[in-house]
Amino acid sequence: MPKYIFVTGGVVSSLGKGIASASIGKLLESRGLKVTLIKCDPYINVDPGTMNPYQHGEVYVTDDGAETDLDLGHYERFTRAKLSKDNNITTGKIYFSVISKERRGDYLGKTVQIIPHITEEIKNNIKKVAYGRKIDVVIVEIGGTVGDIEGLPFLEAIRQLRLELGREYAINIHVTLIPYIKTADEIKTKPTQHSVGTLREIGIIPDIILCRTEKHLSKEAKDKIALFCNVDSEAVIPADDVKSIYEVPLNLRNEGLDRLIVRLLNLKCEDRDLSAWENTVLKKLQSPAKQVKIAVVGKYIALQDAYKSIYEALVHGAIANDAELIIKRVDSEDIEKDGAKKYLEGSEGILVPGGFGNRGIEGKIQAIAYARENKIPFLGICLGMQTAVIEFARNVCRLPRANSTEFSKNSRYPVISLLEEQKKVKHIGASMRLGAYACRLKLASKAHRVYKKTKVYERHRHRYEFNNKFKGLMEKHGMVFSGIHPKGNLVEIIELKKHPFFIACQFHPEFKSKPDKPHPLFAAFIKTSLTSSGYVPGPKNA
Ligand code: GLN
Repeated sequence: MPKYIFVTGGVVSSLGKGIASASIGKLLESRGLKVTLIKCDPYINVDPGTMNPYQHGEVYVTDDGAETDLDLGHYERFTRAKLSKDNNITTGKIYFSVISKERRGDYLGKTVQIIPHITEEIKNNIKKVAYGRKIDVVIVEIGGTVGDIEGLPFLEAIRQLRLELGREYAINIHVTLIPYIKTADEIKTKPTQHSVGTLREIGIIPDIILCRTEKHLSKEAKDKIALFCNVDSEAVIPADDVKSIYEVPLNLRNEGLDRLIVRLLNLKCEDRDLSAWENTVLKKLQSPAKQVKIAVVGKYIALQDAYKSIYEALVHGAIANDAELIIKRVDSEDIEKDGAKKYLEGSEGILVPGGFGNRGIEGKIQAIAYARENKIPFLGICLGMQTAVIEFARNVCRLPRANSTEFSKNSRYPVISLLEEQKKVKHIGASMRLGAYACRLKLASKAHRVYKKTKVYERHRHRYEFNNKFKGLMEKHGMVFSGIHPKGNLVEIIELKKHPFFIACQFHPEFKSKPDKPHPLFAAFIKTSLTSSGYVPGPKNA
């Protein structure tokens, strides 16, 4: 039977519960344990796929095509856990299932209630993840903050689970904030006391308090928190601010967190070995030999979380090349106003990420033209590939106003368009091309040289596709279609020959990149960006 760690959050949101959970997973794996992680999100959307990035940040996609919370991205980047649609449980999903059962008559005439029916459904969904698998520890992160109305059924469910499972089978870790008041030069423990108090009112007693702090906690502060929150002083674990999220597992290890977890859950495991992580990730992060400047041109640039996996994958690519990454975030609408040169001159590589809708599209196209003409390494992802195709059609193939039918329904040259089956789709939820698809690489193409394989699987999240009617013409002008999904002959990767690095893909390679296993496309993109040493004005040449 697996053991469970329930992670809750108090005081404020954005405390890094996801990274704390992922780090716990990493620490347990480093002791030879097999872990999986679950994120419970108390919102009523069935999944975040229908939410705007301003509301939710990035939507992370798993191999099985689930549109999930971005914390699952942290879980996969830090651990070896293979996550699926079952690893993200939302209130929407739970109610959808309970209401469907009620309509089928499964409840045999009973009044269907939050307790026990909703809580039972939550518990079953949590337990289901480890069924039939050799999992030692399941880490369950409850989204939101203790005290939120919508989080209550999840907290009640984990309270019941802990009771059912028994002491050595489940523990609660509460992640909280210890604010530092500059003017008084003091840290404050009161908000934490309150949030632990609220947890206790609903019957949950934390075993470990993980304290996010700007200022390292003194022995007295730890003792005070321990006393008021009813835990041992050694169970008050400081989680100081760090420069890189990849340092978090080591900091938590230094504070004795994994040792404590192993003891509380009575886990039988090996000695911890984090040397690979320390040598391949942290050393490179802490003392890089070089620096690389990459511009990311998108429309959600102001938001930290909208392109989370992209930024992380760039960091991984930089780690692979022993370089420090300097990201310049460029709003594509600014390029529309002032031109590309103003924002992109001096960038050693340009990345255009995915996105939806018309806003900022023309700026992205200008950025891509700039990268192509000036021979600056370019990586386009999803919408970034689609806009690269539009740019090439307009400026190289001379197809005026070529476009995607997403932005111009009646374009004469719809170089990106919907497949017939997508035209029939009525619901917008979970109806895109989603999850892992095979991609065959063209022999001796740049993509083939980068991947060093002929067949890869990459994750998708889009509706529109390259329109094969234009393939011949574009090939004639120098575009190489180097990755194809065999079923339906769908274009997955395009590239240009007379360019140091111009690759764009319809899928999202960023979802499969890890700090200790950088994605080959990102590693190669950074490598070329480093060697082409910045902006060199070149002839207009595709
Ligand atoms: N909007 C485009 C489509 O639906 C691209 C999606 C994306 O970049 N994820 O096909």
